[in-house]
Amino acid sequence: MKKPNIVILGAGYGGIMTAVKLQKSLGVNEANIKLVNKHSYHYQTTWLHENAAGTLHHDRTRIQIKDVIDTSKIDFIQDTVLSIQPDEKKVTLENTTLDYDYLVMGLGFEAETFGIPGLKEHAFGINNINSSRLIRQHIEYNFAKYNNVKEPGEELLNIVVGGAGFTGIEFVGELANRVPELCKEYDIPREKVRIINVEAAPTALPGFDPALVEYAMNSLESRGVEFKIGAMIKEVTPKGLVYEKDEERVEIPSNTVVWAAGVRGNSIVEDSGFEAMRGRVKVREDMRTPDYDDVFVVGDCALIINEETDRPYPPTAQMAIQQADTVAHNVKVLARGEKELEPFEPNIQGTVASLGHDDAIGVVFNGKKLFGWSASVMKKVIDNRYLLKLGGIGLLLKKGKFNIFH
Ligand code: FAD
Repeated sequence: MKKPNIVILGAGYGGIMTAVKLQKSLGVNEANIKLVNKHSYHYQTTWLHENAAGTLHHDRTRIQIKDVIDTSKIDFIQDTVLSIQPDEKKVTLENTTLDYDYLVMGLGFEAETFGIPGLKEHAFGINNINSSRLIRQHIEYNFAKYNNVKEPGEELLNIVVGGAGFTGIEFVGELANRVPELCKEYDIPREKVRIINVEAAPTALPGFDPALVEYAMNSLESRGVEFKIGAMIKEVTPKGLVYEKDEERVEIPSNTVVWAAGVRGNSIVEDSGFEAMRGRVKVREDMRTPDYDDVFVVGDCALIINEETDRPYPPTAQMAIQQADTVAHNVKVLARGEKELEPFEPNIQGTVASLGHDDAIGVVFNGKKLFGWSASVMKKVIDNRYLLKLGGIGLLLKKGKFNIFH
């Protein structure tokens, strides 16, 4: 029998975990496996807000793909996916074309700007390593500029974050820690700097338990974060952000507007003709697309409805990692010419949002609420557990977070 070609697109949480699982479960004589990713590294998307704020160096977040995959079993191709032709079972990359028998799409997320004027052009996004590095350097540049111009304007020191959901809150938490350090470094009085978090919904962290939301807002406000809740972002301009609240239009002058309020699946998915809602394919229970028996989707490009709420599960790293188990299993079954595919069953073990170095909120283990230091330790445990699963004890020791007092 011909060895099937398995192609995995994207080495995010979903893609790389699928690859790591397949390299353990399939022998070299059973399949040719190719993993395609834009960069030579996998990155921990869930740490990017720390890189963007400057509280964690981006090299901690990057993991060289060749350090975690077995290159005798998996052929890693560093290239950019341009499009997929599912009817021809081909993938077009920038530098070559690949044929597949089984495809796994794990191309992750993009920012969703909801058509807000100026957002794409003038706001920054915490989307990947490079966009996060840009935010860090841009903030530092503006702080450095402050004492080097005759009449420094407040736009240099106003940092505006669009969205007080999970990512927005985690980012302002890091900024609240970073800003005092930057003020010392650049001789700027702390009270000159504003961190402003703008949210359209009637509450921060929509969907979280109200007691956790209250704790988070109090903690962040006590460290200087200003919230504009129920404030609809109308426009981002080269001069700042405009929002409307209680029928009043307010403009915040700022050189640094960071959009953290919406994601969608990678647009390559729908541009390649897959039926998708904002880049997310409503997959079958075995994680295959509705129309193609040989195409699986993993991570943020997959849409799964929670039967209890009749709403889609939020796209998370936790889901992507769990889905990878099912996808790898099912790809292995098909590659061996077998038929029994298993359904994906999410096992949500809780959610923890960080509020800075040693503060967090979360819900774990059947609804138990965690606040402050204990939640922050739990966040590090979750992060470390992933590293262990991905690359064993060696990777955990190299990249893990062990300082529970910081
Ligand atoms: P991604 O992690 O997005 O990775 C996609 C990969 O595909 C990347 O390696 C990228 O380089 C590659 N790629 C993309 N396009 C191409 C192309 N054209 N060609 C080649 N390669 C390409 N979730 C949680 O569960 N817990 C958290 O605490 C949490 N915190 C978060 C904090 C922040 C700041 C953000 C932004 C997200 C957070 N999330 C969290 C959500 C989580 O990070 C995502 O759900 C998760 O990253 C999705 O994983 P993925 O495998 O779909 O793809």
